[in-house]
Amino acid sequence: MKVINVLSGKGGTGKTMVSSSLLWTMSRKKRVVGIDCDVDAANLGMVLGVKITRRKEIETSEKAFLIEEKCTGCFKCVDVCNFSAIEKGDKKPVFNRFLCEGCGSCELVCPENAIEIKTVKNAWITEGASRYGFPVVSGQLKMGESGSGKIVTEVGRTGERVAKENKSEIMIIDSAAGISCPVIASVRNTDYVIAVSEPTPSGFNDLKRAIKLVEFFKIPCGLIINKFDINKELTRKIENFAKEKGLSVLGRIPYHKDFVDAAVNLKPVVVYKKKYREIFENIAEKIYSWFE
Ligand code: SF4
Ligand code: SF4
Repeated sequence: MKVINVLSGKGGTGKTMVSSSLLWTMSRKKRVVGIDCDVDAANLGMVLGVKITRRKEIETSEKAFLIEEKCTGCFKCVDVCNFSAIEKGDKKPVFNRFLCEGCGSCELVCPENAIEIKTVKNAWITEGASRYGFPVVSGQLKMGESGSGKIVTEVGRTGERVAKENKSEIMIIDSAAGISCPVIASVRNTDYVIAVSEPTPSGFNDLKRAIKLVEFFKIPCGLIINKFDINKELTRKIENFAKEKGLSVLGRIPYHKDFVDAAVNLKPVVVYKKKYREIFENIAEKIYSWFE
């Protein structure tokens, strides 16, 4: 199986639009599986109309908990917390679980052993079939929780099992935006990266950061320029940058209201409007020939 990771240095560049359309396109010739690693805002499953068949709660985060009866109210724990997660109450400290990073400092300084660090259920992993027949695995962080990177690792493990069960030939990962922990967790063990960019100053800048990450991990990479026609001069600059870096430009996608309408109707754009199929068929062919 070949693993393709769709990422972008910046949010809102059309990563999920690319992932969903490429999954649909490739599914016509290959056995594919879709993985949503954008655990802070998972929406690949929505666009693909996934019917969930399995849902698992996971624990990848730790928090501090007070053992009230042991606490003497010395407030040493308040001073040591670098995340402002503990406040002085009337007689005892008050812990804010949304700010707690589970670092364990308060547990270490507490003279009464009145603090316990415990794992918490912070995310869901779901499995199901898209309305187009292929399987999709998603991770979803619970509101106010942390630990995205570890959740992505767990989603990846589940994805590998589902891929094996379905004899998948291609896995497409819809990665998180940016270049932080969840993205790093999702690019490991990837065969090919598709970087989605747009011709805006921030889009270009964030693309450069994303490419640095890909270069660090020495993963082959191609570029898709979304909304290429909103600023043709910047598009040319992005293409020159790609040339300098030895990256192939896999495709250029125009700016059109169809893309917004497809998203509103929760459909891959290639399903919503047939005229975009050729763009994604060409992208898929370029990637197949890379793998040969
Ligand atoms: S350090 Fe321990 S004993 Fe002191 S206030 Fe905090 S929890 Fe209570
Ligand atoms: S575990 Fe760390 S972050 Fe959480 S309350 Fe204790 S000191 Fe603060």
